[in-house]
Amino acid sequence: MLSEFDLIKQFFQRPRAGRAALGIGDDCALLAPSPGMQMAISSDMLVEDRHFFAGADPRMLGHKCLAVNLSDLAAMGAKPVAFTLALALPAAEPAWLGEFAAGLFALADLHGCELIGGDTTKGPLNICITIFGELAPGQALRRDAAVPGDDLWISGTLGDARLALAGYRREVALDEIALRAAGARMHMPTPRVDLGLALSSARLARAAIDISDGLAGDLGHILAASHVGATVDVDALPAGPVLAAQPQALRRRFCAAGGDDYELCFTAAAGQREAILAAGAASGSAVTRVGRIDAAPGLRLVDAHGQPLALQLAGFDHFASP
Ligand code: ADP
Ligand code: MG
Repeated sequence: MLSEFDLIKQFFQRPRAGRAALGIGDDCALLAPSPGMQMAISSDMLVEDRHFFAGADPRMLGHKCLAVNLSDLAAMGAKPVAFTLALALPAAEPAWLGEFAAGLFALADLHGCELIGGDTTKGPLNICITIFGELAPGQALRRDAAVPGDDLWISGTLGDARLALAGYRREVALDEIALRAAGARMHMPTPRVDLGLALSSARLARAAIDISDGLAGDLGHILAASHVGATVDVDALPAGPVLAAQPQALRRRFCAAGGDDYELCFTAAAGQREAILAAGAASGSAVTRVGRIDAAPGLRLVDAHGQPLALQLAGFDHFASP
């Protein structure tokens, strides 16, 4: 039987020296930002049966719990530095832990993000990461910075993660290949870290948010914080490759209010269009212009002809929905 300390040592403590002055093993880790930089800090918790199914693949879970945190840094335009991991586990199962750690560290190493501490306890499976990034003062892509006249942009594609959920629930019939492809978007989201960094460091974007609860709801947070409105061309929203083969009504709904996308939604001055397309290409994330910020409050959804669309949309709210 693994003790708590053996478990940490075997699966989470890594030999090589990292960026922190002191990592795992003492009462606190010690970490200084680079000279002149600010720290960006965020926590995200994944709860079994709430954010993932019981019995979920541990490697994918390791990836996803860090990916959703990296996505918050991306949405702020911050560079990942380090993270802590608080883990409640029903049992210390070496096979499960090995897979979980492999998924976690593969993504951590891709972004040079070091695990510097955490907490481990027995309990219902619950994974909470706090992530630390850095950025130059004044460069953060804040939700309150959108300005009327700004273009509205989306990275990557939308809706495939939501389509996978509908597939698992058998609300939409998907063949095995389609379900696996859509499921990959749900279980293995790609945080747009390099794009976020390019948008902030070259001051290309003004406001940004990552889309975790669906575009309409998350964009709503930018609109509220910035005291502006927006018009979105729903038919310009980039549907994921699996969703693209579905009927228009479903495409529109899952693009506009899917959830679990982890794409960036950002606003920028019209003069930045060329530079933003170049930043998207350089960072390996397609970017699509989907609308504009208006002075009039509210979110207006229109079709490709500019005609208003009345879609039944609701962002995901843990306490509003049963
Ligand atoms: P304390 O009792 O002071 O809270 P712990 O005994 O819980 O410390 O943890 C010992 C060390 O292991 C600490 O440095 C802590 O940050 C680290 N740690 C605990 N759990 C994890 C984990 N899941 N991942 C990484 N580091 C961990
Ligand atoms: Mg402890």
